[in-house]
Amino acid sequence: MSEETTRESTADATAALNLPEARGILFVVSSPSGGGKGTLIRRVLPVVPRLGYSTSWTTREPRAGEVEGVHYFFVTEQAFAEARARGEFLEWAVVHGKHYGTSLAVIERELGSGRDVILEIDVQGAESVRRAAVDSVGVFILPPSFDVLRERLTARASENPEQLATRLCNARSEVARYNEFDYVLLNDDADRAARQLASIILAERARRGRQERLAREVLATFPDSAASA
Ligand code: 5GP
Repeated sequence: MSEETTRESTADATAALNLPEARGILFVVSSPSGGGKGTLIRRVLPVVPRLGYSTSWTTREPRAGEVEGVHYFFVTEQAFAEARARGEFLEWAVVHGKHYGTSLAVIERELGSGRDVILEIDVQGAESVRRAAVDSVGVFILPPSFDVLRERLTARASENPEQLATRLCNARSEVARYNEFDYVLLNDDADRAARQLASIILAERARRGRQERLAREVLATFPDSAASA
């Protein structure tokens, strides 16, 4: 077989692929407040390439040290309601009495460019994302126990006693929804749990259904058996 034939058959096969451009995967990470999802995500982002983070909108007050546009976009109830009415959220929920939401435009842009995105959202938001039928993978972070969760939340001292009580009171019903997720991670050791979260992301990328385009591109580089004989 001539070199020319090889080049032609490769080009034909590539043109025949006709597959849509690969879109990114949405990784939805949930846990009760104090479960450590933020810590794990911060460890995973620098070590997993092609992975973005979506900064949410919230109507709660910023905590000491929180930066506008980095930790959240802090907005008024009115601004949030207007954005919601304009259909600007992929999902939104009332969590511990405040509104939180994920920008649809940001997610569309990131996934459309082929980047994967991590969402750090509550169990209600995770359910909305599943219902929106986007290609998503749910990961639930389990704290080792109620006592450990209470200790962590108390030690971080970011809530007043009333807010702390609300979060602890809501924690049980949040943990009870672990069975709605694809993966469940025990966050007893942040290093280990972060490695496990990174492994999940990498393994999900390698699922056959998401590798169709790559596999066909590679296959197209092989001459067919009649031509190569
Ligand atoms: P915090 O006030 O501690 O930052 O967040 C409270 C809860 O709201 C956490 O469970 C957090 O994951 C969740 N949350 C943060 N952003 C969003 C969001 O955009 N949508 C939803 N549904 N929950 C969010």
